[in-house]
Amino acid sequence: MSNDKKNPAAGNAPSSNFVRAIVDNDLAAGTHKRDGMPEVITRFPPEPNGYLHIGHAKSICLNFGLARDYDGRCHLRFDDTNPEKEDQEYVDTIMDSVKWLGFSWEQGGTEYLHYASDYFGKLYEMAEYLIRTGKAYVDSQSAEEMSKNRGNFGTPGTNSRFRDRPVEESLQIFRDMKAGKYKDGEHVLRAKMSEDAMASPIMTNRDPALYRIRHAHHHRTGDDWCIYPMYDYTHPVSDALEDITHSLCTLEFQDHRPFYDWLVETLADGGFFQRPVPRQYEFARLNLTYVVTSKRKLRQLVDDGVVTGWDDPRMPTIVGLRRRGYTPESIQLFCDRIGVSKADGWIDMGTLEGALRDDLDPKAPRAIAVLRPLKLIVDNFPEGEAHACSSPVHPHHPEWGNRSFPFTRELWIEQEDFMETPAKGYFRFTPPVDGQPGSRVRLKYGYVVECTGYDKDADGKVTAVYVNYFPDSKSGTPGADNYKVKGNITWVSAATALEAEVRLYDRLFLEPQPDAGGKDFKAALNPNALETVTAYLEPGMKDAVADQRFQFERHGYFVADRVDSQPGKPVFNRVTTLKDSWGK
Ligand code: ATP
Ligand code: MG
Repeated sequence: MSNDKKNPAAGNAPSSNFVRAIVDNDLAAGTHKRDGMPEVITRFPPEPNGYLHIGHAKSICLNFGLARDYDGRCHLRFDDTNPEKEDQEYVDTIMDSVKWLGFSWEQGGTEYLHYASDYFGKLYEMAEYLIRTGKAYVDSQSAEEMSKNRGNFGTPGTNSRFRDRPVEESLQIFRDMKAGKYKDGEHVLRAKMSEDAMASPIMTNRDPALYRIRHAHHHRTGDDWCIYPMYDYTHPVSDALEDITHSLCTLEFQDHRPFYDWLVETLADGGFFQRPVPRQYEFARLNLTYVVTSKRKLRQLVDDGVVTGWDDPRMPTIVGLRRRGYTPESIQLFCDRIGVSKADGWIDMGTLEGALRDDLDPKAPRAIAVLRPLKLIVDNFPEGEAHACSSPVHPHHPEWGNRSFPFTRELWIEQEDFMETPAKGYFRFTPPVDGQPGSRVRLKYGYVVECTGYDKDADGKVTAVYVNYFPDSKSGTPGADNYKVKGNITWVSAATALEAEVRLYDRLFLEPQPDAGGKDFKAALNPNALETVTAYLEPGMKDAVADQRFQFERHGYFVADRVDSQPGKPVFNRVTTLKDSWGK
């Protein structure tokens, strides 16, 4: 792969990090050199038990990004060893999300799409090898006994009374486990890394389980198996079988590394795979403020109806972010900016939103929207007439041309653009008072107008504002600059505006760390995370198609909702406001 495939949003080489330093050293030393093979082979190994979230995006950008930048390859591997929780629906959405983020597991015409379940046969064979060589045994303790005998952080474990059972006996029971002769939980296959492994200060070295009995239907292997390999056993073996060079995982797996190394070395000794074996490295997971990134908690929000689904635009899932209007480039840019480190920390939601703004600003065509409409009547403008006004599609892309919209007698302006009794420094519409004329403002891209009066209903709510316009003040015409005004107000023509549903999304939680310390994260939900308004948009917006993004001047970035938009009748989601005003 050539360098021009590097992340275009990043603009330059991805920032360096400790993982890249490791890879650079390995390349210099030829650590993973093999004939005809890339020296950087990574993998992204999701469990198909839910939808991917922004935390997974960090891992995807890291793994696929390394492969891209070092002429290597990255495998997509489904870690599907928990039959009860997994489903094809999740496999499909995960593949979609990885592709949408801009990555591919295809390389040189080969698809590196793998399933741990494809290795069930080999995993079984290797397990028998471990038993035969005295490196694994069948444990028949009860779950309670096993847990008690594991000891804890400060107390060494106690050997199971089955630990030294004859190899032949373990082998026979293991085969009978596979043959379905036992119930769930009756026996477990455990590793024996060393004679005194149960006293290891590292809990995960204390005879970790390799296989358990589960009479469960698997979404890919059906009822072929009633024993399933454990994640800790499956993962290193899958890495080695796929010739992974750098196996990157999150920090909580640091303690699993000794077992990882022991297993791949032991099985390489047994001739199951070639050397060099893969190496595991740990990086800090992404913790993002104002969201939760645990599949279990996200599922709870969906199941409890707090959100409309996994793709609700308030969700930090990839499908949610996509529907909200995030671009793949903005997420890549975010991942590049936050980097990869070895220390856990929190990243502010503002960083994600900032990357989004930086990505959208140069790309998004401009448009006018009035979100909270108030009628403005131009008294001296002839009824039925329309004057064409125009403005650039994008201020920095003159080549994109202009858009056109009519100025008519009745317009919509924002309610907040009129004040009966103006506050100090308020330069928008204010009525005449005590013989003083009303304020003069420019209707952006249109005429200068002067406020002459307003209507109020019985509740005191302002229902219409009246103005007169100055025919020689039209923007872009000679003499227009003779009018000096401080206010420049956005508007749309009531005669031609597109009435549209606009969903004003905000952060899902009010607290930066809604689930910190195990507290009830649902207590911190933001009740105002969605406000739906009926807005008036400039007429061209009727042609907006699903996923098309715009900057609505002064309001922020909006996208035509990919689910609910109809031809000629788009529904818009607010992706983000123009500035970070949160909590300020
Ligand atoms: P969850 O705890 O939400 O269920 P998980 O870690 O169990 O997530 P997996 O499907 O096993 O989800 O994760 C696939 C890969 O994504 C793993 O390599 C994991 O380390 C990585 N990953 C998951 N969450 C994060 C995160 N917040 N930051 C970085 N990487 C993550
Ligand atoms: Mg997991």
